[in-house]
Amino acid sequence: MKIPLVDVRAQYELLADEMNEALNLVLQRGDYILGKEVAEFEKEFASFCGCRYAVGVASGTDALHLALEACGVEPGEEVITSPNSFVATASAISFCGAKPVFVDIDPDRFTINPDLLTNAITEKTKAIIPVHLYGQPADMGALSAIAERFGLSIVEDACQAHGAECDGRRVGSLGRAAAFSFYPGKNLGGCGDGGAVTTNDPEIADRVKQLRNYGQRVKYHHETLAYNSRLDTIQAAILRVKLQYLDGWNRRRQEIAAYYTQLFAGCLIKLPKSFEGSSHVYHLYVIRTAQRDDLLELLNQQGIGAGIHYPIPIHLQPAYESLGYQAGDFPEAEASCRQVLSLPIHPLMTDEQIEQVAQSVKEYIDRHNLLLAA
Ligand SMILES: *Cc1c(COP(=O)(O)O)cnc(C)c1O
Repeated sequence: MKIPLVDVRAQYELLADEMNEALNLVLQRGDYILGKEVAEFEKEFASFCGCRYAVGVASGTDALHLALEACGVEPGEEVITSPNSFVATASAISFCGAKPVFVDIDPDRFTINPDLLTNAITEKTKAIIPVHLYGQPADMGALSAIAERFGLSIVEDACQAHGAECDGRRVGSLGRAAAFSFYPGKNLGGCGDGGAVTTNDPEIADRVKQLRNYGQRVKYHHETLAYNSRLDTIQAAILRVKLQYLDGWNRRRQEIAAYYTQLFAGCLIKLPKSFEGSSHVYHLYVIRTAQRDDLLELLNQQGIGAGIHYPIPIHLQPAYESLGYQAGDFPEAEASCRQVLSLPIHPLMTDEQIEQVAQSVKEYIDRHNLLLAA
């Protein structure tokens, strides 16, 4: 039995009729660019996040970039984030002409460590991007207090955390703006690329709307230099279908995570932690072990789609050599890159599949520890 890391085909099988109908409607109407479904989806997604505005854009990367630009991030300024994210978190900063500045993570949460943040703030710092990695919200209480004290904007990278909560409020509503991705494998995914910026600030929403559409409010009147970065009507139509299932799917992800955690009782690996007042939506179920590479190889041999998110921290990527960081600069992020392993988790996974993954992991870890003891 093959067990994939994510399974978009299973989602289509479940929702084929609804998705086909939604697509057909758009095809018949032909309003492919900024059509009816885009505006409808934006309303529904804003309401899902508990905030006033959502603006659909072409990808999560663009959502980050346009949100930063709308918050006034300019060339020569600095934006702080964590180094163990997907590279797009940092590239969005670079696209504004600003400089990514990294701060190490809290190893229990895998998100930026607020205790280390103040040291990285300079006169040039303009914003902070907390990454709600794997679906776990960053420590927003502590981060917001620091942002307020230093007059910095918070742009949440919520690309992996649609629906996660922090003290009863959903991510996407916790900073000045937030970025979501609808890449197919995300908790809410389209049939291609897509993204959204959410915000409670009408000016930010308005600026992102201009930035995504050639800087125009009125056709052929270009008020600012801007981009072409719109969410396709076809993607919005698909996302509207899937959004109705998202709360249920997130609950199923939490159930699967709880089952893994129960099955791993007594096994010598580090499991994901949960925190008082915050809810994790398990975009990924990530364990830690020093035997990561061997375990990954074994799982893959058995047809289990485990993966690594991410093997190389951003500050050590060749693309960011010019920032001058070195190995050892962020020991917690670097250790996590060596040890993390993502196990298959998606809402349509069966209990039998979960048990099979857990058994393969446990057998390997137990055998390894027996060998060590002998
Ligand atoms: C997926 C992702 C992005 C980028 O989103 P795209 O839609 O692929 O451009 C950015 N940050 C994080 C943390 C992500 O997981």
